Amino acid sequence: MARAGEGPPEARILIVGEAWGAEEERRGAPFVGASGEELNKQLRDVDLTRNECYLTNLVNARPPFNDIEKWMAFKKKDITSDMVSFRGRWVKPQIVEGFHQLLREIHLVKPNVIVALGSQALWALSGAVGVAKWRGSQLRCAITRDLYPSGFLGPLDSPWAGKLIPTYHPAYVLRDYASRPIVLNDLKRVVRERHTAEYSNEPSWRFTVRPSLDVVLARLRELTQRADQSPEGIWIDFDLETRAGHIACAGISWSLEDALCIPLMCVEDSRGYWSAEEEGQIVFWLYRLLTHPNVRVRGQNLLYDAQYTYRHWHFVPKVAQDTMIAHHSAWAGLQKSLAFQASMYCNHYVYWKDDGKTWNPAATGEDQLWRYNCVDCVRTREVGEAVSETIEQLGLQAVDAFQQRMFWPVLQCMQRGIAIDKRLRNEFAAELMSEMEKREAFFYRVLGHTLNPRSSKQMTELFYGDLKQQPIFTPAKRGIPGHLSCDGAALEKIAVREPLLRPLIRAISEYRSLGVFLSTFVLAPLDIDGRMRTSYNICGTETYRFSSSENAFGSGTNLQNIPKGGDDDDTGLALPNVRKIFVPDPGYTIFDTDLSKADLRIVTWEADEPEMKAMLREGRDPYVEVAREFYKDPSIRKTNPDGSENPRYRTFKSFCHGTHYLGTPAGLAQRLGLTVHVAESTQRWYLGRFSRIREWQKEFCAQLRSRRYVQNIFGYRRYYFDRVDDATCREAIAWLPQSTVALYINRIWMAIYEQHPHIQILLQVHDSLVGQFPTWRKDGCLKQLAAASQITLPYPDPLIIPVGVKHSEVSWGAC
Ligand code: URA
Repeated sequence: MARAGEGPPEARILIVGEAWGAEEERRGAPFVGASGEELNKQLRDVDLTRNECYLTNLVNARPPFNDIEKWMAFKKKDITSDMVSFRGRWVKPQIVEGFHQLLREIHLVKPNVIVALGSQALWALSGAVGVAKWRGSQLRCAITRDLYPSGFLGPLDSPWAGKLIPTYHPAYVLRDYASRPIVLNDLKRVVRERHTAEYSNEPSWRFTVRPSLDVVLARLRELTQRADQSPEGIWIDFDLETRAGHIACAGISWSLEDALCIPLMCVEDSRGYWSAEEEGQIVFWLYRLLTHPNVRVRGQNLLYDAQYTYRHWHFVPKVAQDTMIAHHSAWAGLQKSLAFQASMYCNHYVYWKDDGKTWNPAATGEDQLWRYNCVDCVRTREVGEAVSETIEQLGLQAVDAFQQRMFWPVLQCMQRGIAIDKRLRNEFAAELMSEMEKREAFFYRVLGHTLNPRSSKQMTELFYGDLKQQPIFTPAKRGIPGHLSCDGAALEKIAVREPLLRPLIRAISEYRSLGVFLSTFVLAPLDIDGRMRTSYNICGTETYRFSSSENAFGSGTNLQNIPKGGDDDDTGLALPNVRKIFVPDPGYTIFDTDLSKADLRIVTWEADEPEMKAMLREGRDPYVEVAREFYKDPSIRKTNPDGSENPRYRTFKSFCHGTHYLGTPAGLAQRLGLTVHVAESTQRWYLGRFSRIREWQKEFCAQLRSRRYVQNIFGYRRYYFDRVDDATCREAIAWLPQSTVALYINRIWMAIYEQHPHIQILLQVHDSLVGQFPTWRKDGCLKQLAAASQITLPYPDPLIIPVGVKHSEVSWGAC
């Protein structure tokens, strides 16, 4: 008979893990090894003790390789003859026996809450798959009769029913320590829910789905009237569901319980839910409500929804709070989805996001989607209110206010898009394709057959079959062995081993680079009017840089890695200057801004390094000066006579950069092709020469360790929930200048947007802004740009970073 767990039979909390490890097997008890120790600490952190909980496992025995999944089949080929079907999976009898034992324990203890640790405990107790999705949910744990063994001793007339709250397994937390505060948040829900088995805190939602025209218009009129009478403002939460580039339905909520879903598309009628006339009336009233001066619209990731309302309804709601931006202002390092936020902030929470995908016309009808749309709205409201409180508690109101305001210039930039020189685009595409064809012909010549380097099957057959190379594998993941690899790193290794294969490998790498360059940049899809519109995500990175991607209608691309003109790629292959296809509108001049030595200035001011400050103030290049001093060679210059960058200068600059951000001599040596000895002595010399930098680094790391966050001069923070080790310090210290530069750029953008509307920002790429102004106003605009770029970093010794502006009437690439 399967073994039991341990704990007081009157415990109100029953914790279910997966299976024993070595230590558990040795001592015959659950959670007595490393996971147990972590679990004990987690319980202490939420003011629970282990003695208050009954601890057990899905199976109180040790599986092969300490992996309970070895007792389950996830693929047909893994099913063995001794397996039985259980909850839709094929499993070994140990799982079924373990589960039956668990049922006995549940009936003995009758806990108010069961905590499922990890995916397998969750699945066994609820059938739900994936703890990452479901964690933090307050589920009803009703175990149906069919899951009980025949002859079960428990009182089957009243099968146990209580609450089930899943969270990450402690072993997972030990691997990914940054997940720990999330687990603590879930355990706090357990603490709140432990007093009763009753499912008592469920909100009583009043949702209207499938409304009539009268109901919709009456509600929209009533809310507009309410707004008329509320000079202090009313909040309306807003969310769209979209399909095939159209608005499927629009949801609004006006309290934590009330929401209305207005369907527009409808699977039952391809002409839509309303007549054209009815839809016109609805959109008009939505316009009145959502742009009302007293209405504050809140939503999650509204840059997405606004693209749709602008395109289909020709207005943008008066957005006052984007929950994703607010959450990012507080916790730049955490996940941003609405479900994650709801799991962290909402009083009652059950993961609901699959409902938006799993509806089906035959079974659930579209009503499931419409209800889901309402849930999104009320959840957004609760999250919005809670995150505002958090922001206030953290004193980050100014940070959030600025981030929220960025919504408008970013949206405008996304709507405007940028003109593309299609003739040049086609020329570049033809040029790249012809280069690819040359490589294809080369493959045929040397191999005697065609080769598609994008096909991993063909590549592995070639290198590990025909060419009999010693296998190189991708790393194993979660016990699953890696597979034969032909990625760039693997090919590089092969090239080192086999000089004869170098020309082939070089051609393959070039072919791949050309293909990526062609599809990512040159042929990035254009919008219907031929402009490129890219979508920006204000919350795209934890350094507050934006990320960019294809927009809601499939146009644009991630522009953050677009190469500068004249760049070679890693293989040394010369690629066309793709920035030349981005052109100003007729009558406009395009410009590109460039911050001068921004990172170095910020490090210098953060460290308050006097000599470096003096050099920068006097317009001298510290890297040149320091390199001359170090190499005792006064002839060192930044550029060679032919205009190219001096390699010694480049190496020294990268070395200083790396050193500022706590790069180790070994790491720098490897990256820059130096010996460790040289890297070590140079670093010692440099940090001795600029001792304030070393002191600042020490102070920085000590402060990070004690307060667990880093804060830049604008007051933005990045919290670290992981263990603070050397790698964390390195990441955090680089975050400082990276975030400061990104925010500096955005302040320039905001100044231009607010003060000089005739200067239009077209792109934000890396740390620069690309825009255009009317050519006839060039002189004035250049002065206005210079003035708007004078952002002061409020150090005790204030810092303004010089900004250069290059311009061209032809193209971005020609700037
Ligand atoms: N120890 C247990 O008892 N259960 C687990 O799931 C892991 C370690």
